[in-house]
Amino acid sequence: MNSVSAPKDIVPLSQILPEDPLLMMGAGPVPIPAAVAAANAIVINHLGPTMNQVIEQVKTMSAYVFQSDSQHILGVAGPGSAAMEMAIANLVLPGSTVLSICNGFFSNRLAEMAGRVGADVRRLEVADGRCADPDEVKAALQKFKPQVLTLVQGETSNTVYNRHLPQIAKLAREYGALVIVDAVCTLSTMPLDTEAWGVDAVITGGQKGLASIPGVSLIAFSERAWIQIKTRNDTLKHWCLDAKLADQFWYQKAYHYTAPVSGILAIHEALRLICAETLEKRFDRHLRCSRSLQNGIEAMGLKLYVKPESRLNSVVGITLPEHIEGPALLELMSRRHRVEISGSFGPRIVRIGQMGEQSRTHNLFRALHALGSSMQSLGAAIDLPGGVAAMESSLHDHESSRRVA
Ligand SMILES: *Cc1c(COP(=O)(O)O)cnc(C)c1O
Repeated sequence: MNSVSAPKDIVPLSQILPEDPLLMMGAGPVPIPAAVAAANAIVINHLGPTMNQVIEQVKTMSAYVFQSDSQHILGVAGPGSAAMEMAIANLVLPGSTVLSICNGFFSNRLAEMAGRVGADVRRLEVADGRCADPDEVKAALQKFKPQVLTLVQGETSNTVYNRHLPQIAKLAREYGALVIVDAVCTLSTMPLDTEAWGVDAVITGGQKGLASIPGVSLIAFSERAWIQIKTRNDTLKHWCLDAKLADQFWYQKAYHYTAPVSGILAIHEALRLICAETLEKRFDRHLRCSRSLQNGIEAMGLKLYVKPESRLNSVVGITLPEHIEGPALLELMSRRHRVEISGSFGPRIVRIGQMGEQSRTHNLFRALHALGSSMQSLGAAIDLPGGVAAMESSLHDHESSRRVA
């Protein structure tokens, strides 16, 4: 007799999942293209010629997406946070100094991780809604002389964009610090020129900018970073995240741990779709859709949380009008319109994602209408037709300005 008996009240997934799925317009996970979903249903051997060919293509396509000719692009079985931890665990030595540029929730997570591996972490706190200022970063580099600098390109939590990333990375190089960039929501949605900007580790997750599934992530290390990884003579405390061990699978066709085969096949398809679209067109599509959505939201009479100069396009933050509560709005949008957006980690905002399939005009209109109509039902003064019309003309203007150019 087993001491725990088989549960009797388990229902199949088909009874749990809604028949009419929610359109996921939040800060991730994002909807996945059909080819990604199909790949995710396949399991093959994690070693052998078929997988080898898949891995070669994943690396080749990643090099394009990262804009890096790095020979050290690794996949990670884990969330974006596992890739963050991999960058930190491999590049931050115990007792070294790390300068963490903190704009919000995720940039603070990098700082926290650096602290956990024994670094002396100095935080440069950036006021909410602002991007990091290169002069302030320079002063902090002078003062703390860090070995590593961490920052996010796009801070999903409060929708801030660190616009000055190229200058900041350059400064870090001048002061001899390795640069770790979290590009989980931004990679492939806006420019990030890893090689040209001199970034030493770029982190991305599956379920945001790349429009793949959650649970498999990618990381690109620079040559300079790899030298440090190779010449480190202490043993990493993280076995799964040890880049030298991961290199066995990603570059030497050997076993590290059983790779998340289906997730790698899914990311292969996500990368293939990005390469087929080209980065240039993909950036333009995201820009056009996000800007038009922003214009539509403002024309409805709502306020965007971040000023244009620091505003992230991949995730749009909308200030809640007085008397409107985020949870009630989200609930109404889901129930009545089958559209899901995200709440907040702190500021009084809701967030609409503009990553991958979210940046398609049919999804934009559905999301904008659901937002405006639900706000109106909850008592906010909303010009719904004005918002929709503004988004339409903004989409159109972007298209015609490109044709002229
Ligand atoms: C979502 C996100 C992460 C964390 O990714 P998980 O897959 O949830 O671990 C890190 N950084 C940024 C900027 C993100 O948007």
